[in-house]
Amino acid sequence: MPLYIDVLTLFPEAFIGPLNFSIIKRAQQLGYIEVNLFNPREFTTDKYRKVDDYPYGGGRGMILKPEPIFRTVEYVKTLRGNSKIILLSPQGVSLNQSLVESLSKENALILICGHYEGIDERVALYLAGMEISIGDYVLAGGEIPAIVIIDAISRMFPQVIDREVVEDESFSKGIFDYPQYTRPAEFMGYKVPEVLLSGNHREIELFRRKEALRKTLERRPDLIGKAELSPQDKILLQEIFKEIRKKK
Ligand code: SAH
Repeated sequence: MPLYIDVLTLFPEAFIGPLNFSIIKRAQQLGYIEVNLFNPREFTTDKYRKVDDYPYGGGRGMILKPEPIFRTVEYVKTLRGNSKIILLSPQGVSLNQSLVESLSKENALILICGHYEGIDERVALYLAGMEISIGDYVLAGGEIPAIVIIDAISRMFPQVIDREVVEDESFSKGIFDYPQYTRPAEFMGYKVPEVLLSGNHREIELFRRKEALRKTLERRPDLIGKAELSPQDKILLQEIFKEIRKKK
């Protein structure tokens, strides 16, 4: 059974491009995920198919009405049984790799995309089980955040991309990926680090780990603080600290 990802959106056209190429397409073709789009506008009952309205209490913008969203979710539930219901919102918990990993293990997800000024708060209070944000900035709608989540989930399945690649990648083991190089060995005078051409696998492994640690330490010391470090890593970090001191 695929992981069902049911997306509630007023703008299904936003998904056509992103769902139909590369990794996300592969994850669907291999049967790991199945994405379906539902437009709450089709679940309205009034003549004008109204999905938004003015805010109570006054103020700017239009607010998505609760009924079409509740009704769409009710319908999706009849198809899937129990889904984890997620509201995309800048006020949600921040998306990170471990959250992506746990989402990829669910049976079914419902992603609710807001738009305009936002959504009637009762969707967050009484319908969604969780709110997810993709970062501390405000976007026009939840469509791109939903695509971000689908992309990140797609990469978690075997055969979509190589397992080892995923395991080495940034954040998977708590730190960044190591720096990558390909041919040519020299380009415009810029050289690939000698050790990578040496064929010495042990040396290469140490170099990669050390550079991954170095970059993470420089840019995201908060991640180093939380990462699980081996005794070997601690030795490499000592070396890095020494090198930094020498430079100063
Ligand atoms: N007035 C709201 C923002 C509304 S933006 C506020 O200040 O909190 C419109 C919709 O875009 C939101 O309902 C949400 O679904 C989506 N959205 C905007 N920024 C987002 C982010 N950083 N992460 C996830 N969803 C976001």
